[in-house]
Amino acid sequence: MKTLQQLINSNRKWAEMINAREPQFFEKLVHQQNPQYLWIGCSDSRVPANEIVGLMPGELFVHRNVANVVVHTDLNCLSVIQYAVEVLGITDIIVCGHFRCGGVKSAINREKHGLIDNWLRHVQDVMEKHKALLDGIDDMTDKWDRLCELNVVEQVVNVCQTTVVESAWERGQDVAVHGWIYGIHDGLVHDLGFSVNNHDELDAAYRNATNGDRHKVIREK
Ligand code: ZN
Repeated sequence: MKTLQQLINSNRKWAEMINAREPQFFEKLVHQQNPQYLWIGCSDSRVPANEIVGLMPGELFVHRNVANVVVHTDLNCLSVIQYAVEVLGITDIIVCGHFRCGGVKSAINREKHGLIDNWLRHVQDVMEKHKALLDGIDDMTDKWDRLCELNVVEQVVNVCQTTVVESAWERGQDVAVHGWIYGIHDGLVHDLGFSVNNHDELDAAYRNATNGDRHKVIREK
């Protein structure tokens, strides 16, 4: 029987380390989770949500899927957003993509991997929506990274347009939606400058986030 004992051993060491640092840590977590943030990110093993932003168990509510896509009819993602906003009362939703995303690359190259091609069709939709902008980028890596950014921007819009977030804003709940991108090559997160606090801000923020070379500057910092 395969048991993955090395992972169990590693877990024991991790729990001991946390207990040594803060003896009551796990006991306190039993009684409540009180995260301020919801993280919507890519499933990529190189983008572990909590580690990247230095947050402990209990501090980050997380949803991940391939290429951090938010689809209006995805009950899984919608349920996570609803529970986070309405039950946990989180104040910030972060959509965090990453440069060199394999899912985005597959979408660009129209690679065939089976069932997942249907999921990545959503990223192809983003690509076609921004075709004029992307066609102006000759370097393939730059084009790939730019689509990673644009995909984040479009998913932020999708989050803002969910009934959950629309309703939260209508009743005056403090919820902001942010677009971030992570560099797997340097471990750094960049704010895409696309944060939305209410419905009225969305259009102008979107225009700002999708014009020209804005994000090329971010990559070269
Ligand atoms: Zn990815």
